[in-house]
Amino acid sequence: MTPDIKPLVAGNWKMNGQREQLDQLALIARGASNPISEKVDIVVCPPTTLLYVATTFSEDTPLGVGAQDCHAQAGGAHTGDISAEMIKDCMAQYCIVGHSERRTDHGESDSDVYQKTLACWRAGLTAIICIGETEAEYDAGQAEAVLARQLQHSIPDGANERNTIIAYEPVWAIGTGKTPSPEDVGNIHQFLRDAVVERFQGPGERMRILYGGSVKPANAAEMMKVSNVDGALVGGASLKADDFLAICAVYSGM
Ligand code: PEP
Repeated sequence: MTPDIKPLVAGNWKMNGQREQLDQLALIARGASNPISEKVDIVVCPPTTLLYVATTFSEDTPLGVGAQDCHAQAGGAHTGDISAEMIKDCMAQYCIVGHSERRTDHGESDSDVYQKTLACWRAGLTAIICIGETEAEYDAGQAEAVLARQLQHSIPDGANERNTIIAYEPVWAIGTGKTPSPEDVGNIHQFLRDAVVERFQGPGERMRILYGGSVKPANAAEMMKVSNVDGALVGGASLKADDFLAICAVYSGM
């Protein structure tokens, strides 16, 4: 963790969850209340179909709600897409952009992610910007070069600790049960911190850098201790309230 940065744990439900999953959301909203909320910010990003109902569940609780993607435009002829303004209109506060599954499945480039981040800011959403190297890039020793490029081209000027959260997610660790060693994560997060401080100065010192990729209750503690890891982006383990809240509890230090 980074001294003076309140950690944040975000759950990415991906294309999972129908109305029956709302009981888990209700449990998470209840579990996210005091005293844990004083120590950690907790966010759930359900599929778009549940977004509005999720914000009604989280109303009057400290639970934040986010979307998993947005279109760069505010509106228009873009069948099937949703704008950052629509997400805001659902009373959500966050939006994930540049998740590796979007980059792979939908061919999203760094410049697409850049435009989507601007859209989030325009609508008043905090962008959770995902970056991460593939296994081949990791094996070839190119992780830092890839991350530097993604940071430079996915994040617009003007990023600060309120409008932007960075999520480092090695693609090969997502949904695989594999994780980098805490030492590797520490080196990468230090590299990312140095890069954002160099580019954004003070705001870069305060910006949250999450780790994501097979975070579970069993490994959350070792990641949480790594310096410059300011929270977690959690996929599979966020679908069950007990598991997700256990991870949040680790990050709260309680
Ligand atoms: C993710 O999709 O952002 C993620 C980290 O997934 P998982 O926790 O399942 O690896």
